[in-house]
Order: sequence, then C-alpha cells, then structure tokens
Amino acid sequence: MSLDAGCTRTARALRPFGTSVFARMSALANVHGAINLGQGFPDFDAPAFLRDKVNAALTGPTGQYVRSMGLPALTKAIAHQVAPRRGVIPDWEREIVVTCGATEGIAAAILGMVNPGDEVILFDPGYDSYAACVAMAGATAVRVRLDPVTFAIPWEQLERAFSARTRLIVLNSPHNPSGRVFDMDELSRIAALAIKHDTIVLSDEVYEHLTFGVEAPSIASLPGMLERTIVLSSLGKTYSCTGWKIGWAIAPPELASAVQSAHQFLTFCAPAPFQAAAAAVLHELMPGCSYLRDYVADYESRLDALADPLEAGGLEVRRPQGTYFMLLRTRHYRAGDEESTARWLVEHARVATIPLSPFCAPGSPEGGWIRLAFCKDPGALAEAAKRLVAARQD
Ligand code: PMP
Repeated sequence: MSLDAGCTRTARALRPFGTSVFARMSALANVHGAINLGQGFPDFDAPAFLRDKVNAALTGPTGQYVRSMGLPALTKAIAHQVAPRRGVIPDWEREIVVTCGATEGIAAAILGMVNPGDEVILFDPGYDSYAACVAMAGATAVRVRLDPVTFAIPWEQLERAFSARTRLIVLNSPHNPSGRVFDMDELSRIAALAIKHDTIVLSDEVYEHLTFGVEAPSIASLPGMLERTIVLSSLGKTYSCTGWKIGWAIAPPELASAVQSAHQFLTFCAPAPFQAAAAAVLHELMPGCSYLRDYVADYESRLDALADPLEAGGLEVRRPQGTYFMLLRTRHYRAGDEESTARWLVEHARVATIPLSPFCAPGSPEGGWIRLAFCKDPGALAEAAKRLVAARQD
C-alpha cells in the first residue's frame, strides 16, 4: 500500500514522510522481477539453535503478556551479555527495557523523553525513523549533514547545532547507510559536546557486533557518558531474525524509566515466545564467542561476493567498517541523481538498491551514492554484481 503524503486524514506531523523509500523500491523490484538489494533484511533464516528455542517456548505457557520491561530471564541475560562492552553490569530490573525491535526502542526513547518544542540533533544521512519519531513528538529535528562523500562529522556545524532547547542527540554507529564506525576520537568529541550542553545521547548500536577488522566502541563506555546515554540493540540484526522484533534499550534508571513510560503505552511488552528464546541463548553468546566470529566471517564473505566483482568491473564502491550495507557510486550510470539512478537500475539492470537522498533532509547536497544490502544469498549477490557491471555507462 502506498501512503498518500498529502492525505489530510493523516496526522500533520506524519504527512511529509509518505511511504518509506524501502517500501517504494521493494514494490518497484517486484514489478521488474529485480534482485532486491534494497531493504536491509537477511534473505536467510535465523540460526536453527535459536528457532529451536522458539519452538520449545511455544510448547510452554508463553501466550500471555509478560513483564512490561521484559521477561526477567531475558533482561538478566542481556545484563550479563552486555557487561564486557559496557564496562559494568546493568541492573536487570531498572536499566533495561525490552522493546518490539530497535524501531520501538527509537520511538519509546524519543516519545518518552522529548517535549513539543524541544530540539533533537540528527546526523544526515540517517535512519529514517528518527526524524519521523521527532515529528511525532512535536519536536524539531536539527539535522547535521555528514560529509556527502567521506561521511566525516562537520564539527563546527555540530557545535552550532546545540542550543538551550537541545534535548537529545541521536548517534548511530556502525552507521546505516554509510557503513562508518565512529572512532574513539569522534565519540570523545561528541561526548564532550553532550556533557557541555547537558544533552542525552540516544546511541543506536544495532550493528554493534557486525564490524570488519575494527571494533565499534559504545559512547556509553566513555567517562561521564553512562549516566547520559540510552543504548539501543536489536536481536534481529545480531541473530538474523528481523521479523521477530526483539530489541532493547539500556540506560540508567532515570532514562530507562522515561523509555518505559512510552513503551508501556506503545506495545506494553514484546512478544513472549521470542523473548523466551532469546533468554535461552543470549547467555551463551558472549562477545568473541564462536557464533559471533562465524557471523562476522559469513557477512564478510557475502560482502566480498558483491564488492569484489564490482571492483573488478571498474566500479567505485565503499566497503563498510560495519553494518551489512555497502555503497556504490552513481556516476557510472547516466540516469542523474541518486533516486533516478536507483530507479533506472531496477528497470535496466533489474537490481534494486536504495538512494541515500531519502536518508537526508529534502534539498540536502547529494554525494552520489546508492546503498546495497549484502545480507543476501551469495549467488544472488554475484548475479547482481554482474548486472550492475554490465549496465555501466561510463
Ligand atoms: N536502527 C538502524 C540503524 C537500523 O538499520 C534498523 C533496521 N534497519 C533499526 C534501527 C531497526 O531495528 P529493528 O529491526 O530491531 O526494529
């Protein structure tokens, strides 16, 4: 279904957003029978050991509401699992809120913390739900454009973005769509600004374990930041089960309570059988364990299956430091801007990609990139690469 951006029945705050670029490109991919490297979900299933736990959970009494902040077994398992990355063990009762995916975590954090008239700093390009949630909260998004080509942070502009009304800054590392991992120096500078302006950081870390040759530090682990950071994670990203919609927010009690104040009215609780399954495996899946090593190696080989033939075919790509997205230059094709190039490629190369322009404020300068998701079958990735090279026009 396509959403009419002008429909007066839709709340005014949501009208500018219309139908997301992911839904639009997927619909176009279906029309043209294209290989869909657009929407970022794996085309393979969650690992069998995790699915077995759901089946086991369903044989027990998991059909009713559970504790709103999360099944105790799961919040205890999360506390244990995140301790090495976080530097301390969070309080399983007061510092963790299990949400319906990180998507709900974003909404609950923003709606639970932000007042009408407040300002929220967002980086462009950025995940599309941040701006929509800021609009739903009646607040103003103050957007800071990363360098269109390198995705470096423009520090002077970021400093200027803070005001007396700044309530929150949203950070995402590893970063969708650029694949950048913000390093310690960058995180320290952001932390210093957040402390100086007494601002809370919403740190979307859903790709925290999916990095290639680098670690993705959490801004929460920096001095003075634990007490002012809400960290968001997603079971869907780490265990390839995006449809199960299990995520969590970790924050000090005061901030977790703000997230919970919205979560209780958004969904009340996340699906019980999937929480039970996650609880049964998470305690075994510590950072550095064989599952996570294999998971990264598997994605690395999928990245190579796509990036190697594109590079061999003379196309300029940007390999990610993290996430399951890579970027491809639009200048190899003659369709024009990013959106036109993505559309042209669906029609002429039968490969669906995502332009970066919808991740930015309207009218923002384009870097000339499209995003390719490589969380897909290696055969499909190799075929997509062949088509993208064959369609080259420069
Ligand atoms: N944040 C980012 C940066 C994402 O890329 C996504 C998923 N595409 C989400 C949040 C949403 O995560 P979930 O599937 O757990 O709702």
